[in-house]
Formats: sequence, structure tokens, C-alpha cells
Amino acid sequence: MKVTEHINKSKSTLFSFEILPPIKGRSINSIYESIDPLIEFNPSFINVTYHREEFIYKTKELGFLEKVSVRKRPGTVGICSAIINKYKIDAVPHLICGGFTKEETENALIDLQYLGIDNVLALRGDPVKTERDFVPKISGHAYAVDLVKQINNVNQGNLLDTESVDDFEFCIGVAGYPEKHIESPNLEMDLINLKSKIDAGADYIVTQLFYDNSKFFEFKNKCKELGINVPIIPGLKPISTLNQIKSIPKTFNIDLPFELCDMLYKAKDDNEVNQIGIEWCIKQSKDLMKSGVPCLHYYTMGKSESVKKILKNVF
Ligand code: FAD
Repeated sequence: MKVTEHINKSKSTLFSFEILPPIKGRSINSIYESIDPLIEFNPSFINVTYHREEFIYKTKELGFLEKVSVRKRPGTVGICSAIINKYKIDAVPHLICGGFTKEETENALIDLQYLGIDNVLALRGDPVKTERDFVPKISGHAYAVDLVKQINNVNQGNLLDTESVDDFEFCIGVAGYPEKHIESPNLEMDLINLKSKIDAGADYIVTQLFYDNSKFFEFKNKCKELGINVPIIPGLKPISTLNQIKSIPKTFNIDLPFELCDMLYKAKDDNEVNQIGIEWCIKQSKDLMKSGVPCLHYYTMGKSESVKKILKNVF
């Protein structure tokens, strides 16, 4: 079932979460171990992230370096299919522009359709670690909006070089940034680009994580003023270590509220930090739920125990 169908069918706030494929070499059981604790809370859908190639340099004879492309977390589509089979829960694969030509994107969509997957989160992806800026593959997409356009075209029956005889009906999610995307000069420009993804056929928005609900509410109001009327799903992640006070703002280009940092710095160890992170996330979740958000989406990063504690208090 499509994410928007889940939302339209429900009168109350839904729950969903995101997982990462395991590091290459680990078994699918590590995925099940991170999903199992959350099943009792009836997730409506589970997102699976996509991780593109990275380049590493291997030292060869005589000190020459060989540039090698590696994918550390492959398996997004296989994991989605395994989730649907094992749990009978909808899975949402993330599909990115980076590393894909248009033909490869089309083939990926055909695979998804064969597997009965009718949801996709369409993203541009970050630059590869060894490059400063995002570089699309030749004949690939430069922005998520172009990927949304391609998926929407496929939904209309238009494949690249032929018409489809079968039905493609992907429900398309896109990313939104309450504190703006790192490359955007300001929030307003970023929102105009977000609107273009909706105009191109995206059905809903999932936000970057945030710790200050007022930023989410402002973002939602600005979206409304611009005529963005699709469901906006807030993304949440509990803080679990003190080190994240530095790493989260740097990685996600977001602020942490003073009140939260003050409590975290006063914590005597990471156990206490973890507890503060859980309580903060419970407060955020309850407040967002009261405001009528369609779904609460948790970034578990493979650590479901904290999310489980949050869900026990919220749902
Ligand atoms: P876009 O919407 O293309 O925006 C990228 C930047 O370009 C923004 O600054 C935007 O304002 C600007 N822009 C957009 N269109 C135009 C235009 N036409 N002209 C000029 N500027 C423009 N990354 C992964 O690699 N794998 C994942 O699984 C993954 N999952 C994610 C899930 C969520 C919910 C979120 C919020 C992010 C996720 N990311 C993931 C990270 C994401 O790929 C990065 O944040 C990436 O840098 C931007 O992706 P986007 O889809 O928002 O890009």
C-alpha cells in the first residue's frame, strides 16, 4: 500500500522508521534484530536508505595507488523485499540520483515494480566523500526534482524508449529541510526548490531531523504559504552520545536548542545522555502529535532500543 494511502486511511498519527542496510558481509539477521523490537507498535512503513559507492585508494607495488570503487552498504532493494515478505509491512526504498544514469534508474524502477514495491523516496544524494560538490553521472540527474519527473513519467506509462504496457504507480516521497539544506543560500530558495519537487509529482515530504519543533512548525507554515499541500512527515532521531552535540550539527546542518545542550553537557555519562535524548524525543513526539502531524518518522540508525522506549511513551 502507498504511504499516502496509509495516511489518508488513518485518523490518528502513524509511526514509521528508517533503517540502514548492514555493512557488507553482515547478514540480513542484523536487520531483523533492529526491526523486531519495533513491530509491536505497528509501523505503517519502513524506509531503507541507499548508499552509493565510495572511492578508496589501495597501495600497489612500487607505491602506486589504485583508485577503487566500493559500496559499503549495498542491498537496499533486497532488504525492502525481505521486509515485505517477512513482516507484511510496506517498505520504502530510497532511490538517489548519484551514481545512476537515467537508464539505470528506469531499470531500478522496473525491478521495484516486479517486486510489488509501490513506494519510493526520491533523493539527489550527497557528493561522494572524495568530492566537494555533487556530480551527476553522465546522463544522470543533477537534482531530485529531475528524478521525481522521471518516476512520474514512468507512472504516466512513458519509459525512456518505449511505452509501458503495465501499470506503474509509484507513490513518491521527497526530502524537506526545516533548517534548510546545507547547499541552499537561504530557506526561501530551498522551499522554492521543494515546491518544484511537489509540482513535478511528489506525493509527500519527509523532513530532515530536527530538535526544535518551532523550526518544523515555521517550515510547515511556509510550505503552506507557498501552496505546498502534501503531507509533511517530521523526521526524529534521539541523541544517544555526547559527541553528537558536535557531529549532528555538522552532518545534518541543523541547530541543537540551548536547553537541550545545557542538559546534555551536565550529564555525568553517556547513559544519562541517552536518557536525556529519549526524554527530549518523547516531548518532541507528543507535541508534534498534538499538532496533528500525519506520521512520526524515526531515524533508528540500527539502534531500536531508544526508539522502542520513545514509542512506549508516545503510542
Ligand atoms: P535536492 O532536492 O535536489 O536539493 C539539493 C540542493 O539543491 C538543495 O540545496 C536545493 O535547494 C538545491 N536545488 C534543488 N533543485 C535545484 C535547482 N533546480 N537549481 C538549483 N538548486 C536546486 N542520502 C543518501 O545518499 N541516501 C539516502 O538514503 C538518503 N536518505 C535521506 C532521507 C531523508 C528523509 C533526508 C532528509 C535526506 C536523505 N539523504 C540520503 C540525504 C540527501 O541525499 C542529501 O541531503 C542531499 O544532499 C540532498 O538531497 P535532496 O533530495 O534533498 O536534493
